[in-house]
Amino acid sequence: MAKIHVMDEILANKIAAGEVVEKCVNVVKELVENSIDADSTDIKVELQEAGTKFIKVTDNGSGMDYDDAIMAFARHATSKIIDENDLFNIRTLGFRGEALASIASVSKVVMYTGDGEIGTKVVINGGKIEEKKKCEAIKGTSITVSDLFYNTPARLKHMKSLYTELAHITEYMNKIALSHPDIRFTLINNGRVLLKTDGSGNMLKVIHSIFGYDITKKMLKISGENLEYTISGYTSLPEVHRSSKNGIIILVNGRVVYNTQLVRTINDSYHSYKPDNYYPITVLNITVDPQLIDVNIHPTKMDIKFSKMEELCKLINDTIKSALQIETLIPEVDVVLDETVNYDISSDSPKQEIRKEHYEQEKIDLSTQEVEEEVTDLFKEIEQRPQKIEIQPRLPQLYVVGLVHGTYIVCENEEGMYLIDQHAANERINYEKILKKLANPTKETIAPLYPITLEFSNNDYIVLKHNLYLLTDMGFKIEEFGVNSIIIKEHPTWLNDNNALENIKRLIEMVINLESNFKLERFRDSLAALMACKRSIKANTSISKEEMESLIANLRLCDNPFTCPHGRPTIIKYTNYDLEKLFKRSGF
Ligand code: ZN
Ligand code: ZN
Repeated sequence: MAKIHVMDEILANKIAAGEVVEKCVNVVKELVENSIDADSTDIKVELQEAGTKFIKVTDNGSGMDYDDAIMAFARHATSKIIDENDLFNIRTLGFRGEALASIASVSKVVMYTGDGEIGTKVVINGGKIEEKKKCEAIKGTSITVSDLFYNTPARLKHMKSLYTELAHITEYMNKIALSHPDIRFTLINNGRVLLKTDGSGNMLKVIHSIFGYDITKKMLKISGENLEYTISGYTSLPEVHRSSKNGIIILVNGRVVYNTQLVRTINDSYHSYKPDNYYPITVLNITVDPQLIDVNIHPTKMDIKFSKMEELCKLINDTIKSALQIETLIPEVDVVLDETVNYDISSDSPKQEIRKEHYEQEKIDLSTQEVEEEVTDLFKEIEQRPQKIEIQPRLPQLYVVGLVHGTYIVCENEEGMYLIDQHAANERINYEKILKKLANPTKETIAPLYPITLEFSNNDYIVLKHNLYLLTDMGFKIEEFGVNSIIIKEHPTWLNDNNALENIKRLIEMVINLESNFKLERFRDSLAALMACKRSIKANTSISKEEMESLIANLRLCDNPFTCPHGRPTIIKYTNYDLEKLFKRSGF
């Protein structure tokens, strides 16, 4: 029975608007999503030269009968949706019936497909069907797209470097593997395996295949729910720093989506646990009634709008924060004895990412029974890590040994040796103290001793005037004063640090920069961090043993003793095992 419908013209145009096959990843995406639609449980993508020479996708799905196989390459053919209201409700993924026809028009395509009873072979060259015939029975589909753009050399020139093409494909395959842990995916380029998942349905195993053992052991399981949303997934310890956001992967009802606000919310949940301009690795699945979301489909990504966005952001924020509450977050020094294994995971360059994956893959290929067991134990450990149990104090008991360069306090306990950055530690203590004070400020205002007049550029002044309510709401009394200037008659007392003028300038600068996105909470936070830095012992300052002990005692009382307000570590740990390894005392 023919399963392919011809799509409603308007819908087709709507979706096809701007739709072009311009990168190898578009082809991979289309073919892989067709395979998923066909209920495949095993999908293999083979590339030569990052897909520019050929892309072959083989699946074990339901395949097509003879008629469908021919129809599949007609314009507007799709087996997937009939009504645009189904765009998100549908379980299936592909919806661009255009794409196969577009691909076939700029490449050489060979397809073998079969529903188990009868096989069909179709050969298309630059959009022209050159061969179609019945062949031996197979179950599934294999499509080879070679010499992409051979007949449109101008487009061929537009293709980025092979590394960029490959990086795009790898990123796409990673995401699709994460959204379908129950499908076995294999990605191979020039004979090298870049990704291999086992289709066991275990998301942590997919994370392991993508990011490797060292990252996987730094993942925390997260889960939470409110009335509308259920969220679950894994997120990295704050010590994992990446300069790119592409390790943050959001799924809605099992499908990868793109939403900048959610990415920001996830990153903000780590605020002061890590520098804000580095990103975690997070795989977050949001389950929601499809009625509550609005999907805007774009050829390369899926943007999505949520009703009750604020509640969703709060849920994500609370869930990640409480996951961070339970862990002892002292980074252990990575003792790496084999130089070749030392990859910079924070690196953004696709070259490095891919090299890393090569390495990880080699590790998987070489895996012995022992490695298998280690990985299985790790999965169990991560699954069983307690959630939402607060342990206080979060730092273990530490005994001061001495001070290095007037900067690092050396401590020990039965587990190993610790180094504490005295400035960062002191900064954290002061920050939490100041923040608590600023969090509940009085409504009192004060008139400055000397009138404060401030002058602005004409455009800043316009922005400021427009957003002046933000300041008056805080209790400021402000009047206009000449051209592009204001005079501050009164300001809140909580700004009355030694540096009221500087603080006010910072505040106004933030109001001008952020306008209606200005959040008083954010300003207080940055003010607390600044004041804390100024009040803390500097590096290269010798302090007594008693001072060190009291510093550590105060650090142990902090809500988050592990990082300074800027997200840099206050403490690092060398386990006894690491030390033995470094001195070759153990069996290394
Ligand atoms: Zn500082
Ligand atoms: Zn700092």
